[in-house]
Amino acid sequence: MATVSIMNSIPRPSATLARWLTGPRFAGMPERAADLAPPALSFEFFPPRTEALEQQLWACIRRLEPLAPRFVSVTYGAGGTTQARTHATVARIVADTALTPAAHLTCVGASRGEVDDVARQYWDAGIRHIVALRGDVPGAGDYVPHPDGYAYAADLVAGLKRVADFEISVAAYPEVHPTAANPLADLDNLKRKLDAGATRAITNYFFENATFLRFLDLALAAGITAPIVPGIMPVSNYAQIVKFSAISGVRVPEWLGRFFEGVEDEMETRRMLAAVVAAEQVRTLQANGIDEFHFYTLNRPELTYAIAHILGVRPKAAT
Ligand SMILES: Cc1cc2nc3c(=O)[nH]c(=O)nc-3n(C[C@H](O)[C@H](O)[C@H](O)COP(=O)(O)OP(=O)(O)OC[C@H]3O[C@@H](n4cnc5c(N)ncnc54)[C@H](O)[C@@H]3O)c2cc1C
Repeated sequence: MATVSIMNSIPRPSATLARWLTGPRFAGMPERAADLAPPALSFEFFPPRTEALEQQLWACIRRLEPLAPRFVSVTYGAGGTTQARTHATVARIVADTALTPAAHLTCVGASRGEVDDVARQYWDAGIRHIVALRGDVPGAGDYVPHPDGYAYAADLVAGLKRVADFEISVAAYPEVHPTAANPLADLDNLKRKLDAGATRAITNYFFENATFLRFLDLALAAGITAPIVPGIMPVSNYAQIVKFSAISGVRVPEWLGRFFEGVEDEMETRRMLAAVVAAEQVRTLQANGIDEFHFYTLNRPELTYAIAHILGVRPKAAT
């Protein structure tokens, strides 16, 4: 009786204090260890469609070049629509910069012979790294393999290895590829791509780090030991990312929507929010032992540069 009355006389803590007393103290935010080595980075660009976009891309490449990424990759438009532009961009990267390019290559809508020819042209231009993908049907129709083509990315990887001894990266989906039969089938597919000769997986972007870290556990349990590099998408255009994510099966958390509420017309604020969100994401991943990152730059350097800086990456003097 006495104990109960004493308990009743203790004032109840405020909601904030109650959370502080009972919840996790630091909720996973990292303390950057002084001896943490800067991570390995790679940057993804898309091939420009116009002269103005070409200049934007090259300004972006020049700004990021001193960060000495492990490689920079150039996408291949849906259904191979940018074949010539992708080739021109990677060839110029080889010729004019100290960077190592990786050319994306898809097999959708093309025969094996056509795909092998493109690969040979890459090899002849000095490109030794390919990001091998199945690709999607332009216009979002159902995928049907080309009758004489590589049906899936795993077949493409094996075919590319027959063309030349490329370094090959492939795609991975922490939230499962939208048309996969189930998560385990999708993991099996990732393993097949690596077993066929790929040496690294780069993930689709994601917003919840727990999703990625859990995916790493599942991959390890499935016998996958190759590096799985998180793809980081700094988001400043929320409406666009919602549209993109619906197609690619990425969950956009409610909190991200709330961050961007009411600032649709404020570009500067949106860019600051993008930096905050991406910085928190990469710092938390770094605190969880992730030491390589792939950035979807969208051909704009500043966010990527700032986030790389936060991760401890500094410009290297030109040699
Ligand atoms: C890092 C990254 C870069 C990208 N770059 C580009 C780009 O430059 N250009 C572009 O057009 N697209 C690009 N994409 C998008 C990609 O092309 C699409 O996501 C496409 O839908 C799947 O490609 P994939 O290589 O993952 O396919 P796959 O690995 O072949 O898988 C595609 C689907 O088929 C399933 N599957 C695989 N094998 C079989 C089988 N034997 N039987 C039945 N089902 C099977 C898989 O589970 C999955 O659901 C990129 C994606 C990522 C993550």
